Amino acid sequence: MKVPIYLDNHATTPVDPRVAEALLPFFTETFGNPASRNHAFGWAAATAVENARKQVAKLINSRAKEIVFTSGATESDNLAIKGVAHRYRERGDHIVTLPTEHKAVLDSVKRLEQEGFRVTYMRVRPDGLVDVDDLKHAITEKSLLVSIMAANNEIGVLQPLTEIGRLCHERGVLFHTDAAQAAGKIPLDVEAMQIDLLSIAGHKMYGPKGVGALYVRQRGMPVELAPLLDGGGHEGGLRSGTLNVPGIVGLGKACEVCRELMPEESRRLAALRDRLKDGLLAALEGIHINGSLEHRLPNNLNVSFRGVELAALMTDLNDIALSSGSACTSATPEPSYVLAALGVPEELAHTPLRFGLGRFNTEEEVDYTIGRVVETVKRLREMPSLEEPLPAAPRFRQA
Ligand SMILES: *Cc1c(COP(=O)(O)O)cnc(C)c1O
Repeated sequence: MKVPIYLDNHATTPVDPRVAEALLPFFTETFGNPASRNHAFGWAAATAVENARKQVAKLINSRAKEIVFTSGATESDNLAIKGVAHRYRERGDHIVTLPTEHKAVLDSVKRLEQEGFRVTYMRVRPDGLVDVDDLKHAITEKSLLVSIMAANNEIGVLQPLTEIGRLCHERGVLFHTDAAQAAGKIPLDVEAMQIDLLSIAGHKMYGPKGVGALYVRQRGMPVELAPLLDGGGHEGGLRSGTLNVPGIVGLGKACEVCRELMPEESRRLAALRDRLKDGLLAALEGIHINGSLEHRLPNNLNVSFRGVELAALMTDLNDIALSSGSACTSATPEPSYVLAALGVPEELAHTPLRFGLGRFNTEEEVDYTIGRVVETVKRLREMPSLEEPLPAAPRFRQA
């Protein structure tokens, strides 16, 4: 076993060797521009891109022509949300989302708020899930779009996509889901779930960084979008700019590999995650698991430790690559806005550890991690905290 151990697979994943092998020739040999229609170099690149489009489509049960390649899930989220708002502005001005969404969604809707759109941030339950009954009341005549993520990037909870999709379609509202954490990890079906727009990131599913996709519904009620970029009109006019062919080939291959491995891999990772959870629970008191355990990605565990300072914990666990799951600026870690939205008490919202297991983690690494976390938490709890105020000295001496 090698240290440091990588347990931060929600931040990014390594490129699968099968993916690396598939994409490498597209830097040096098959380097043509797929928009070059007059020669074999262009045709070969275009063929590879269309093959990747099919591979992505197959993972989510869409058609190939419904896939638009982007630079990643941030761009896909921006294109979906701003694209709908700007295209359908005359029909309405209201968007529904969750306070626990990724910043790529939250900051996109915030930008639209500055332009005069109205946004409803729905309440989530203490387990992190949205209540579909609440959503019924949040949707109005003026609603254009519901944007609710498939799987949360901090706590891994899965939202009820099928029920949300059904409701949105009954009410004539478009449904976008950020599936950056879910794609390739759990089954997704844009038909069964009645999803109109779905964002994917290559680097969260063992593909390369800087490439992603947006599924845009064409079947039934086709969705139109106002593009973010103007230019050569690539990707059906939705995303101008020369295609990132090696990245796209890698994303396609990553989708294919994920689809093949998913049944076995999700079982294996869920077993490792449960081993980690049970190991921590058996050895430590005062730990709190954040988010639903039942409706959750197989590879996620998010735990708060009572009476432990997160910065000290992370520093001492320097042989394990972990994240707090929140935007953590060096000196003063911000409490997680995701945990705050769940109503996790401030004291616990400050100390979450996010474990993100991945394809290449082993049982040995999990057992080592349990040992190190247990030992470190126990030691830190025994140390007197420097932050604790000293007992106040009596101001007046009693006579
Ligand atoms: C990582 C992530 C993003 C951003 O994806 P990039 O491809 O890095 O831009 C968006 N949403 C979620 C849920 C993510 O986990």
